[in-house]
Amino acid sequence: MDLFDYADSLRYGELHMKADPRIGLRAIVAVHNLSRGPGIGGCRFIEYDSTEDALRDAMRLARGMTYKAAISGLDHGGGKAVIVRPKGLTEEQRGQIFHAFGEFVDSLGGQYITCEDSGTRVSDMNIVSEHTSHVLGFDPSKGSSGDPSPFTAFGVRRGLQAAVKFKLGRDDLEGLRVAIQGVGNVGYHLARELHDLGAELIVTDVSSGAIARCVKELGATEVAPNEIYGVDCDIFAPCALGAVINDHTIPQLKCSIVAGASNNQLAEDRHGEALRLKGITYAPDYALNAGGLINVAEEYVKYDAEVARQKCSLIYDTIFQILERAGAEELPEGVVADRIVEEMIFG
Ligand code: NAD
Repeated sequence: MDLFDYADSLRYGELHMKADPRIGLRAIVAVHNLSRGPGIGGCRFIEYDSTEDALRDAMRLARGMTYKAAISGLDHGGGKAVIVRPKGLTEEQRGQIFHAFGEFVDSLGGQYITCEDSGTRVSDMNIVSEHTSHVLGFDPSKGSSGDPSPFTAFGVRRGLQAAVKFKLGRDDLEGLRVAIQGVGNVGYHLARELHDLGAELIVTDVSSGAIARCVKELGATEVAPNEIYGVDCDIFAPCALGAVINDHTIPQLKCSIVAGASNNQLAEDRHGEALRLKGITYAPDYALNAGGLINVAEEYVKYDAEVARQKCSLIYDTIFQILERAGAEELPEGVVADRIVEEMIFG
């Protein structure tokens, strides 16, 4: 990969790196765009096959955060950190790495604000907070925003309601059939929200415990994981995995709307057009699942859960605006969401 060509293709930006061989630290902070404010994005701590993979991941994810923050109207840009997880990591080494990472984040002077992501935990962010104030979501007992999942689920529900209004002309969800793929943190909270509004739930998961909870508490119907795509329903809500809208699954879909929490639902961009041609309305994932980011961004000012919830509620308007424009311009919804962001940021 030519790094600068790749950076140009993503319209970067800045890339910061810190290494300390004594403790096995290899950290990257990608700051994609700061035109709307400091970049917020989680810190990933996972193994990578190569430095190139880690760089690409950081750069791609930071760009995604720019888009998510902008489409949500937040005064933030996009950033992301990746720390390459050393093989055979010990708890002592983990502590050393996060102390060094905290100093690294602080040295960037607030351009990048970090928080939890895959492989990191609250205790890591507590260590980071000893070195910098540019960290969010670290310790709920110190007034931070805590678990983002209920806010993500609430935002998905609001956006799903906008899609229902746009596609089906209805203000309520009473009796609508929603097939949820994955009833973990977000999927379960979403299922509860939808149940409370009278929706009928069909759920799947690879965890029998997760399914049992929805069947018992919410009267959901269970289907096997490979059957969820073909369920006759109004809304398909992917809340487990990425790339589930693909050549194999699109022919099976019997829904009018795809609206769920998963990131990167379209296996390729062309699958957005394939959904459109099939007459299925797609609520773009990064606009729909921004509730967690909106919630944690509130902490940057002064955390108030009620204000965060009110802001998450506006996902309804964001999704409705995207769907209206996509309809008028006869374009896939994901393309329109990207264009809205690019008009805001790059003019
Ligand atoms: P989670 O791990 O708590 O839940 C995922 C669920 O999917 C689990 O119950 C898991 O058993 C199930 N699952 C895994 N493979 C499956 C399969 N093949 N078929 C059916 N079910 C399967 O994760 P989460 O925090 O609920 O996040 C769900 C999705 O939403 C992820 O893609 C995540 O990136 C995205 N997301 C989450 C948040 C958040 O606030 N947690 C915010 C934005 C986006």
